[in-house]
Amino acid sequence: MPVINEAAFVASSTAVQPAEGNLLFNPSLEMVDFDNDSLATGWQSQKEGESDTKFTRLNFGHTGSSSLKVEVSNHVDGVSYYQFTPLAILGGGTCDYSVRYLSNTYSEVNAVYAMNDGSTEYQYLGVSYPSPNGWSTLTTRLVPPEGAVTVSIYNLLYNNGTLITDDYVLTRATVVPFDRPMVTITFDDAFESFYENAFPLFQKYHMDGTIYLVSNDFKAPRFMSVKQIKELEEHGFEIGSHSVSHAHLPALSSKELRYELEESKRVIEKKLGHPIEAFAAPYGEYNDFVQAEIMKVYDSHRSVDVGFNTKDNLTKKNIRAMSAVVDTEPETVLGWVDTAIANGAWLSLVYHDIVEDGGMFTNTPDHLEAVLAGLAARDIDVVTNKEALEYIESKNLTTD
Ligand SMILES: [Zn+2]
Repeated sequence: MPVINEAAFVASSTAVQPAEGNLLFNPSLEMVDFDNDSLATGWQSQKEGESDTKFTRLNFGHTGSSSLKVEVSNHVDGVSYYQFTPLAILGGGTCDYSVRYLSNTYSEVNAVYAMNDGSTEYQYLGVSYPSPNGWSTLTTRLVPPEGAVTVSIYNLLYNNGTLITDDYVLTRATVVPFDRPMVTITFDDAFESFYENAFPLFQKYHMDGTIYLVSNDFKAPRFMSVKQIKELEEHGFEIGSHSVSHAHLPALSSKELRYELEESKRVIEKKLGHPIEAFAAPYGEYNDFVQAEIMKVYDSHRSVDVGFNTKDNLTKKNIRAMSAVVDTEPETVLGWVDTAIANGAWLSLVYHDIVEDGGMFTNTPDHLEAVLAGLAARDIDVVTNKEALEYIESKNLTTD
């Protein structure tokens, strides 16, 4: 596991800029708790299960001179995290949340709500990926459930590792719709099963989508051939890059990272004879540095960060998506589609392998057909990633 060189960050702090509309108290953690100097005022540390966990307040931060560190070792089970003191939700409504972090491992981001009937509800909001060499940003949007009285949010460590956080921001969001809802169906990895099991269904429903392929896999047995890929393109599919070797990008040196980004683009462009502009990170893993490097080479980055894209939050460096995995029912996916229609959103769906009786990242042909039939019956355009971006940009609906 990479080590976070804390000494390198001591001098890097800049002045705290208060975020407009931030609902959180002491969000940059500058005020030290009266009773416990390993804590910041308004923040609590929590440990559940068996592990050696250390909670420390550090004398440097993303801004200002304070941040909070959770360090877990000898993990057997359970989770460790900081959270802000639960905040009263007045009037509910959609909120945006972001946090800056340094970490050498993964953390899961969850919201916890106290409900007006005394129960507790949890909401999965996403994952933060390792970023040991520089501060990264996790951003997510949450919709409190009906009847929620208070909310708190935490990045929880569920394994050995270190997570340092700073500059928490929770604001009320104003969702601004596009002038039409859109859906993009994306497939990662370009399995041959797509050609055999999914392509005929897309033809039946006169739809297409975007496929992100790993350039090393052109000749691999279970993946589509150049000939098959070209046939998909003739039917309107867009091809994007999914790196050279399906590497964990945050774990690479900057030289290795550039190779995964540039060489995959070069190889796919050579095989297909035209520019490749779209990228999806393998495993959905990125941090701020990886994201910036992706955008030096590609026009867009589809993540697997949970969410819908609307005019107020769309950014080409992080196109949010909803992933269908083996136990995701077609009705669930079509519920996301209805949410997109209701909010004037662009919904990007993520699929992998389309087979019978597969693992976690598979769906059956019957599942896919039910989704395509449901889309055909609804008032929503099914477009490629490129077509969605072209439409949005032609209408000047985004600023980046
Ligand atoms: Zn993949």
